[in-house]
Amino acid sequence: MDAISRAFVLLIIIMTGFSLSSLAGAFEAEPEESMVHSRVMQNDSHFNFPFFQIESEQALGIYWEGHLTSPDHFDNEGEGYIKLFRKRSTGWVTTDLAMIVKDVAKKMANQFQAVDPLQVGDVAGFGGGVLDGHASHQNGLDIDIRLLSKNHHIQEPEKGADFDENFVMKGHASSNFDLERNYQLIKHIVESKRVTFIFLDRVLKSALCRYTKSIGQYESAKTILGHLDHVVSHQDHIHVRITCPQSSPHCQIQDFSLLPPGC
Ligand SMILES: [Zn+2]
Repeated sequence: MDAISRAFVLLIIIMTGFSLSSLAGAFEAEPEESMVHSRVMQNDSHFNFPFFQIESEQALGIYWEGHLTSPDHFDNEGEGYIKLFRKRSTGWVTTDLAMIVKDVAKKMANQFQAVDPLQVGDVAGFGGGVLDGHASHQNGLDIDIRLLSKNHHIQEPEKGADFDENFVMKGHASSNFDLERNYQLIKHIVESKRVTFIFLDRVLKSALCRYTKSIGQYESAKTILGHLDHVVSHQDHIHVRITCPQSSPHCQIQDFSLLPPGC
């Protein structure tokens, strides 16, 4: 970089208030995830979200450049869920996210009484920070959940580090993609009023949109489906991202207000 370019970059940094690391984060982080809506904000009471009353600060920084202190550990199993990839130490989580997912798991179990529980993948490493195989998952506010299948397949939780079924076949949702249960899963998650984005392949999002139209619920589903954002490599799981806990003043949330409702 020559002297003029260096001076220009310095000027930008001073004008915008960005640190060098946050600039790098903004452009390099999350290569597999959409950065269209990447404006970040300090966590404050600007948003009227329902919060859990947790005393300790847990989430620090932003999803793709953050840390996690005083974390909870996601249990290996509970009502309506199991944790996958147990050999990886990737089950560290904020209390808020753990409570939201466990509550959703319970609702799904009561609603469907299916033999297959929610299958939770990676959350964050102990202390947060860079997590192998992920661009975000750094401050305990991101979680992966295997998509639900019609054949109720349950992955072996002690083995592997990847989900074992791709639900997009030749550009279409596979016949094993459970439209009803995956839609209800997403609906329950959004109803927590804490979700920002849910990353999912656009083919599967379209299938869910058509499904809600076919059952005459598209109008009421618009807000729910609007949280779904296409990101590649999300043909086997959803990635759920929530807002900052109230007790984490140094947490930054990603502005999701530009996500259009609907499909
Ligand atoms: Zn993820």
